[in-house]
Amino acid sequence: MMKNYAFNSKPRVMLIYTGGTIGMIQNHTTGAFEAFNFDHLRANVPELNRFDYAIQAYQFDPPIDSSDMSPEVWKKLVKIINYNYDNYDGFVILHGTDTMAYTASALSFMLENLSKPVVLTGSQLPIGMLRTDGKENLITAVEIAAARDEEGQPMVPEVCVYFQQRLFRGNRTTKFSADNFNAFRSNNFPPLGHAGVDITYATELIRHPDRMLPLKPHFLLDTHVLAITLFPGLEEQLVRHLFAKELVKGLILRTFGSGNAPQHTWLANALKEATDAGKVIVNITQCQTGCVEMGRYETGRQLLDAGVVSGHNMTIEAAITKLMFLLGHYDDPRKVRYMMGQSLAGELDRK
Ligand code: ASP
Repeated sequence: MMKNYAFNSKPRVMLIYTGGTIGMIQNHTTGAFEAFNFDHLRANVPELNRFDYAIQAYQFDPPIDSSDMSPEVWKKLVKIINYNYDNYDGFVILHGTDTMAYTASALSFMLENLSKPVVLTGSQLPIGMLRTDGKENLITAVEIAAARDEEGQPMVPEVCVYFQQRLFRGNRTTKFSADNFNAFRSNNFPPLGHAGVDITYATELIRHPDRMLPLKPHFLLDTHVLAITLFPGLEEQLVRHLFAKELVKGLILRTFGSGNAPQHTWLANALKEATDAGKVIVNITQCQTGCVEMGRYETGRQLLDAGVVSGHNMTIEAAITKLMFLLGHYDDPRKVRYMMGQSLAGELDRK
């Protein structure tokens, strides 16, 4: 369900309120945070009315906790942005923090040729609470979505996450802390901007697609993907059982260090059999920073020989959503393997 609220005129920003802590209130009986509607949120941020912008809000009804986020909702977001694209200068998506990095990553692939800002934000404390971080996050995100450069072009035509003074490329982010206001990290890519007294932008890092190309919304995602974290003692029978499943088309292998795995013959064989059967297996590291380099140690090389492809320095969120996106678009696993190593929306660097 949708609700529309018009605030003002001038730069036009669309606020899409999906849910999350930012709009919640505390149930005084149970103590739990429960979703509330956009009226509540707006009442708590009267500052929005002071912007000389036209801000319109689209509310998910009911709002959702981001643990319930799904590819269906990503498609809905793409549809909303695509439908309203020409009428707004930028978009702000209010979202729960728990899966914000997944949504930001997915949207970065689904909104090809994006030439306007799509800024995701949320908060760790509900906006009605005295010490809330939500107000600053929301107000600054709106300002970033409306910001223009000297030529009058959108300052950050990317899907990004704004949180606690920092603006990140969305598909580089990871939720890092369950408690801190400073909840997000972009470990393998510097921030795109910083909000102090002024909002400053790292203009040399910001991607600028060809503005002549129209927005190309994508709606195809194949969710037959899994992620496995390697650990000492990983049981052969369980792995074989998983790999044998026909339903699994893509697998993210979260390896050690620079992309290493135990040297069991059974593991190399199981991986080889799975790739021969057409499954796409992508290697990303369990480390918070750094890049996969499968040729560096023997323990990584065997993965290369088994047909595993490098996920370079992608986050788990980017790797999973990109795999869904590519499997949704290409039937040929060789094409998917090749594309996993290419940067589609600035999500990886190769070594
Ligand atoms: N559980 C909430 C959510 O992700 C947490 C938050 O918004 O911070 O929707």
